[in-house]
Amino acid sequence: MLKNIFSPIQIGKVKISNRLVVPAMVTNYCNGDGTATEKYIAYHEAKARGGWGLIITEDYAVDPKGKGFPNVPGLWNDGQIESHAKLTRRVHDIGGKIFAQIYHAGRQTSRALIGCQPLAPSPIPCPRLQEIPHALSLKEIHDIVEEFGDCALRARRAGFNGIEIHGAHGYLIAQFMSPYSNKRIDEYGGNLLNRMRFPSEIVSNVRSKAGSDFPAIFRISGDEMVPGGRTIEDTKTIAVMLEKAGVDALHISAGVYGSAYAITPPAAIRHGWIAHFAEEVKTVVNIPVITVGRINDPLLAETILAGKKADLVAMGRASLADPELPNKAAAERFADINHCIGCLQGCIGMISRGQPATCLVNPTLGKEEELRIKAADLKKKVFIAGAGPAGMEAAMVAGKRGHEVHLFEKADRLGGQFYTASIPPSKGEIAGFITWQRRQLEENHVFIHLNTELTEEIVNEQNPDAVVLATGSIPASPNLPGLKRGSVVTAHDVLEGKTDVGQTVAVIGGGMVGSETASHLANHGKEVSIVEMLPEIAADINARSKPFLLKDLAEHNVRLYLNSVVKEILADGLRIERDGREEKIGPFDTIILAVGVQPCNDLTRKLDGKVARLLTIGDASNPRKALEAIGEGYLAGLEV
Ligand code: SF4
Repeated sequence: MLKNIFSPIQIGKVKISNRLVVPAMVTNYCNGDGTATEKYIAYHEAKARGGWGLIITEDYAVDPKGKGFPNVPGLWNDGQIESHAKLTRRVHDIGGKIFAQIYHAGRQTSRALIGCQPLAPSPIPCPRLQEIPHALSLKEIHDIVEEFGDCALRARRAGFNGIEIHGAHGYLIAQFMSPYSNKRIDEYGGNLLNRMRFPSEIVSNVRSKAGSDFPAIFRISGDEMVPGGRTIEDTKTIAVMLEKAGVDALHISAGVYGSAYAITPPAAIRHGWIAHFAEEVKTVVNIPVITVGRINDPLLAETILAGKKADLVAMGRASLADPELPNKAAAERFADINHCIGCLQGCIGMISRGQPATCLVNPTLGKEEELRIKAADLKKKVFIAGAGPAGMEAAMVAGKRGHEVHLFEKADRLGGQFYTASIPPSKGEIAGFITWQRRQLEENHVFIHLNTELTEEIVNEQNPDAVVLATGSIPASPNLPGLKRGSVVTAHDVLEGKTDVGQTVAVIGGGMVGSETASHLANHGKEVSIVEMLPEIAADINARSKPFLLKDLAEHNVRLYLNSVVKEILADGLRIERDGREEKIGPFDTIILAVGVQPCNDLTRKLDGKVARLLTIGDASNPRKALEAIGEGYLAGLEV
């Protein structure tokens, strides 16, 4: 069924057993000095065991001044080689192939991180990080070219099967290649040949030091997606030059920090959205071309390969969500694949705060050994209250350990509030995760009791060994005059389709739930207004997803009342205070409350001291995001 995926290919002299690639993704798992940690090695081992044809590591800085994140790996001195040699030995022992990506962040870093002024071709700040960089002198340029070659040689000595030169995403090499960031008027700027001098010298230096038989991929953004940036036509011209310079493969991504959504596209961007860039590059070169870009399903990867759009398919976040994806695809166990849902909560959300990467749907990411599921020594009867994402995860893990697990849910379906979160536009993939969890419960013989609320009486009667309370939260209710009017409903009831909504709607509360509910209704023809106390809506949504939501709301003429506090719900509208002045807005047929949630955990108090092991997790403990709830569910499954 997946004959294109599972056919081998050569990159230079290296044979790759299948076409699925783990691309470079920052994890922040290394030591601050650039050496590899056990966490970093175990993370790559999981990929090798999972059957990926090629693993490309995250970006090895060629110089400490080229670091873009606090805990990226480095090969800027010989002392770093041994820890990375340990990584390659362990990956090779499993049969994996691993390339080191090498890079210099240029202006896309900060003085706080590297201890000095960032470096760039020209003194123009990155629009996101906004620090004016030092424009490199000719000597400094030559020194960095040498550093790339030295780094490639160290990668070879560390046992990597090859390297990937990072010329994408607006880092230093990309800065030189693009008129968007390179305004030099010497031999490294101006026309294309001059802008290509720096990458060409790097390729040449790498070749001469690491050897022309050491495979080198070049990664490049097909389109920078910023005004004045490179386009796909520029990229095709550059691709021909790079092939002539001797690179063995090209890896076509998109974007720079000024268009960060293109580097790690959120759920609002369609799957495989830049495969056509690779397809265009393939028309002008004869070396293998890798595509990437929110490809989270092997069936989609197969379609891309069968359509000759690319020779290999990189599936970054898909590999975080499920490192076993290739093995499962090879066995045609498609329903067991845990798909990335494009939420960006664990991966980008964590590394953008300088933290180690995690994953919402895969709590074991970066903790592969620590959280390995082992059979329980003593089989227990475990009751779990609440079949939201936390309760389902706890039930799955406890079931895998061999316990007799009973999952109680008072509603008639699984998923809890995570199901309602799947209703707005762009959020549908959440339903796929709930479906995956359901299958895991079935596979692990968890007894599912729908329409059954776990009570003190059931616990007293059936005497379980452990109880996990994952009863979630309920919508908070503000203390507002007029709240009892018939036209007032909650966002959760609206998303679940439990209530009718009139033509004109006001949503009180413009956080993620309120804004997405507004989007859902506006996409279905309603006239929607949002009233929010803060000066912005969707303040709790990650920066890459938010512009898409705001655009959708604007295109559907959703009216925003910011800095506005609702004082009273009237029969025909709302009395609000905006910027210190009171006014009446409306009329509205329906008022929707989206003002947060409160824990639902009455059973915690009732069962305290009555069962041998009692755990309260997720929103029932403290309302937060699904990332935390699922992580706590996994841990609870290990702890019971
Ligand atoms: Fe995908 Fe979300 Fe996991 Fe990131 S945290 S890999 S976006 S599922």
